[in-house]
Amino acid sequence: MENIIAEINKLKISKKAVILSHNYQLPEIQDIADFVGDSLELSRNAADTDANIIVFCGVNFMAETAKILSPKKTVLLPDLRSGCPLADMVTPDDIKKLREENPGAEVVCYINTSAEVKAECDICCTSSNAVDIVNSVNSDMVIFLPDRNLGNYVSKHTKKKMIIWNGYCPTHENLKIEDVLEMKKLYPNAKFVAHPECTEDVLKLADKITSTSGIIKYVKTDPSKDFIIGTETAILHRLKKESPEKNFIPASRKMYCPNMKYNNLESLYESLLNEEPEMEVPEKIRQKAYLTIKKMLDVSKIIVS
Ligand code: SF4
Repeated sequence: MENIIAEINKLKISKKAVILSHNYQLPEIQDIADFVGDSLELSRNAADTDANIIVFCGVNFMAETAKILSPKKTVLLPDLRSGCPLADMVTPDDIKKLREENPGAEVVCYINTSAEVKAECDICCTSSNAVDIVNSVNSDMVIFLPDRNLGNYVSKHTKKKMIIWNGYCPTHENLKIEDVLEMKKLYPNAKFVAHPECTEDVLKLADKITSTSGIIKYVKTDPSKDFIIGTETAILHRLKKESPEKNFIPASRKMYCPNMKYNNLESLYESLLNEEPEMEVPEKIRQKAYLTIKKMLDVSKIIVS
């Protein structure tokens, strides 16, 4: 293991590469990465880096997003099986039909969508900025896709009329009310923090609803010692590392995303060595998808600053 880590680090320097890891990646991938974060943070890192090669340890829509933002760079996804079932639940044809049925509505897509889908939408969002992005659009009517739970959560924080696509994340919908109640019974003083991709019933039990980066910030500033974490379990690695004095309890061990676990040290090493598999996005689609993401980055910059 130490050997392969040393080899990856050597290759990283000689090839001027940067390794990005999503918060749901395996602990050893998070540990070797230059940046660990959520989709928005990583898309910003991908856009800002001057590295020649971006190795994206996440799922394919994330690596696509990096390629869309950095077309001249080589973007590698160590294992091409890393897909996202939620992203696969909506297609460009679905959007065309929705637009026909709802003239005048603007289409907001969650970043968990393919490049083809992004190319058909008006603006992109992540779970950290979804409410602000929906509130920022000109139209009073918004088509939101593909996640029904995030859409439903946003609809409670906006006056816009929302048409919500019926997609969902299987990992987050694996968390049931009974799981949370059981954990709350076992840890009565713990705060329950949940990702907005969880079901509405589960979110009703939450002390805090926020994105993965929001969870990381929240547990640092909240005075509680114990936290029940309602998102993919691999985030516990980062939480423990950054807040070692606190206790983190997974809301359910069923919150495991197998798609996020295809990338490992071996595939990362092979990928960097051979510079494949490389993420490609056809230029026409890339340009359109770029505008959708760029709008989000511009709006969130205004909101952040
Ligand atoms: S956790 Fe859910 S949204 Fe994230 S990659 Fe897995 S299936 Fe997709």
